[in-house]
Amino acid sequence: MSICDIAREEIRALVPYDADPPDLDFVNLNANEAPTFPYDAQLAGTQNRYPELRPRSLQSALADLFGIDIKKLCPVRGSSEGIDLLIRAFCRAYRDNVVVLPPTFEMYCAYANMQGAEVRTAPLSVERDFAVDWALLDDQCDENTRMVFLCSPNNPTGNLIPKSEILEFTRSRAGKSVVVVDEAYVEFSGCPSLASEIDRHDNLVILRTLSKAYALAGARCGAVLADEAVIDLISALTSPYAISAPVTRLVLTALQGSNRDAADRQIADIVTERNRLSTRLEQLDCIDRVWPSFANFVLVQFKSADVTGDKLAAAKLTVRQFANNECLRNCARITVGTTEENNRLIDALGSSKAGL
Ligand SMILES: *Cc1c(COP(=O)(O)O)cnc(C)c1O
Repeated sequence: MSICDIAREEIRALVPYDADPPDLDFVNLNANEAPTFPYDAQLAGTQNRYPELRPRSLQSALADLFGIDIKKLCPVRGSSEGIDLLIRAFCRAYRDNVVVLPPTFEMYCAYANMQGAEVRTAPLSVERDFAVDWALLDDQCDENTRMVFLCSPNNPTGNLIPKSEILEFTRSRAGKSVVVVDEAYVEFSGCPSLASEIDRHDNLVILRTLSKAYALAGARCGAVLADEAVIDLISALTSPYAISAPVTRLVLTALQGSNRDAADRQIADIVTERNRLSTRLEQLDCIDRVWPSFANFVLVQFKSADVTGDKLAAAKLTVRQFANNECLRNCARITVGTTEENNRLIDALGSSKAGL
């Protein structure tokens, strides 16, 4: 019995694309590549050959970084691709459903729609600072619920879902649904990843990304962490040679030695800045509410989103607003920038509340 028993039959039957790695002692005339690299040598090395099918060095660096066995990790082009692969692997069009907990990351819903999977919702409780309503979530799940997406820290609300609650829910869905925990912002939370729980819960899947804390959004690199059977299943779905050679090289360099130390320092600095920014925002006249954040952004509620939006535009500052979202009326998600950028934001938002 494996959680993959609930995956789509035709996906379980897929044979992963395979290709022998080139033998460098041979003249390789088997892959229709160009024989040489005709460009300026400055153009990031020799790229006339296909990269490794599944770059081992990248898998190993990501497994190290995320503290997981290499067999339980699949590198992906951003965790967004991970969401897509998981939904395609498990959800039969027009039959299966996924449950999401809005307000949350919009790509869960987008990829479910693309696959023809029904999207059910169990909204976070606005009255309880966006805590999960577990009873409501249970109600939304049925025998065709293949996947539940939990985002912790959640985008855009910034709160964490308690580990014990996630695990209890995951156990309640054993053999029935995959529980995906999106940890895109976990590095800013001060809490450990749930990756080590995969050994005890074969329906638990973790999404990690290099796009946020590791400052590599442009590289498009992340990872799906899961039971080996789930990893094998989604690996068979990835396009061949998905991870390009320049990306592998860039990521390996970024995650090593002094580069890695610099990334860790930036994470610590962002957390310090987030806490300072939250305090300063709470003191501003134009802001009604600042929610506690465990991520690299802060959710706030303006007195008037229109008036404040105009002020920010005049100062050439962009924040994410949620005009069409009833439960986030007048709210904005503000990414933590550099100290100078954050000060510019605070200055643009104007005066402090009386007495502060
Ligand atoms: C930014 C973000 C992602 C990741 O995106 P990538 O595709 O890895 O760049 C995933 N989940 C959430 C909740 C996010 O906010």
